[in-house]
Amino acid sequence: MRNWAGNVTYTATEVAEPASLPELQEAVAAARRVRATGSGHSFNDVVDVVAADDLLVSTRGLPGEVVVDRDAGLVEVPGRTTYADLGASLHRDGWALPNTGSLPHISVAGAAATGTHGSGVGNGCLASAVAAVELVRADGELETLREGDPEFPGAVLSLGSLGVVTRLWLHLQPTYDVAQDVLLDVPSDVVVERGADLLSSAWSVSLFTRFSDPSRIDSVWRKRRVGHGGDTGDATETWGGRVAETAVHPIVGLDASAATEQLGVPGPWHERLPHFRAAFTPSVGDELQSEFFVPLDVLGELWPRLVEASPEFRDALQVSEIRAIAPDEMWLSPFRGGPMLAVHFTWVSDLEVVRPALAAAERVLAAYDPRPHWGKVYGPWWDTARVAAAYPELPRFQALGERLDPERCFVNRYVERLGVR
Ligand SMILES: Cc1cc2nc3c(=O)[nH]c(=O)nc-3n(C[C@H](O)[C@H](O)[C@H](O)COP(=O)(O)OP(=O)(O)OC[C@H]3O[C@@H](n4cnc5c(N)ncnc54)[C@H](O)[C@@H]3O)c2cc1C
Repeated sequence: MRNWAGNVTYTATEVAEPASLPELQEAVAAARRVRATGSGHSFNDVVDVVAADDLLVSTRGLPGEVVVDRDAGLVEVPGRTTYADLGASLHRDGWALPNTGSLPHISVAGAAATGTHGSGVGNGCLASAVAAVELVRADGELETLREGDPEFPGAVLSLGSLGVVTRLWLHLQPTYDVAQDVLLDVPSDVVVERGADLLSSAWSVSLFTRFSDPSRIDSVWRKRRVGHGGDTGDATETWGGRVAETAVHPIVGLDASAATEQLGVPGPWHERLPHFRAAFTPSVGDELQSEFFVPLDVLGELWPRLVEASPEFRDALQVSEIRAIAPDEMWLSPFRGGPMLAVHFTWVSDLEVVRPALAAAERVLAAYDPRPHWGKVYGPWWDTARVAAAYPELPRFQALGERLDPERCFVNRYVERLGVR
């Protein structure tokens, strides 16, 4: 059994799918070690269990519905729900989330656990929309942690290491439309001199490039909220590039049918904020991914260094994406102290080819104390000492883990290796 990318073979031979909450609680209480899996879109062993007879469990089979509490402005969501299902259901009822990741295929619990994010200088990561989380603890009991609880900042972005998340409550806003357009061949000088302005020029902005021409980037994807305020910047500004007249894929030249609608045609937020349509394979489908978070204000200095080093990693690269994320206060959030810049690499799928390329990119980023995406591929330099230095609130997270899971039932090799628990 493997993850979506096929680069991680899970140690467990099967995924248990309890059909009721009591069945899940019983299974967790009886197991020596447990991990939950979402939709399997992480690129490392963050999901995995330690031994073949440990319990790898999915909440896919649990009953439960998406329920909106209009008065509270919250939606209750089963952890297994995908953003594709959630977005369609919320929009039908007149509601929205502030943002999504690039793909709607992932589960809400899995996305929250790893700090999955979209883009937008005013948009926090997806976990930052969570108001409460319910989980099955190692002893099989249910526990709900809510905003305002002193332990809440550790409860949501938890790498699956506190319990099995059964339900989450997310903050809502009234639904809105988004118009997406793409600019091609924007000069690199703009990224160096006005990069933060460019990233602030719409609700969500992504810069894509393969570094094939150092003087320009391939494309800029702008997702503007229509008729709602919220956006800054001038929608008619082309930043020295040209407006795409046909739809494109983030890797310019690939078939654009998997990409969400562009050309400025307004549509529901959940069909524009992701780059990829729910009914299609997202991204390339044959790839590995890495991503690093550094302070937003280093972009002008970092960009020429990446361009200069790009001959060392370009051959392994399918595309690179630059995004911005607003800060939050979660203890394991890579965006604490932000705003942060996300520097992403979609690599070819061969790890042997990727390893030296990744190391070259990491050498450039090292000057800025990068925090890697918890769910993607990074080099061995990311160790217990660096994790502890990058996450000063780690001891509080560890204390929460100790309280909820004193027997270390939810500890796997990943969290142990990084000293997270
Ligand atoms: C094509 C592609 C595009 C991507 N784009 C983005 C992007 O735009 N932005 C971004 O930030 N990331 C992106 N990612 C990474 C992805 O969003 C994260 O890896 C995310 O965690 C995947 O969610 P999942 O449901 O597949 O979780 P999984 O990979 O299955 O699990 C991730 C973690 O969540 C835990 N978990 C899952 N369900 C539960 C539960 N019910 N209870 C407790 N713990 C649970 C697991 O134990 C594990 O620790 C992308 C990945 C792919 C493959």
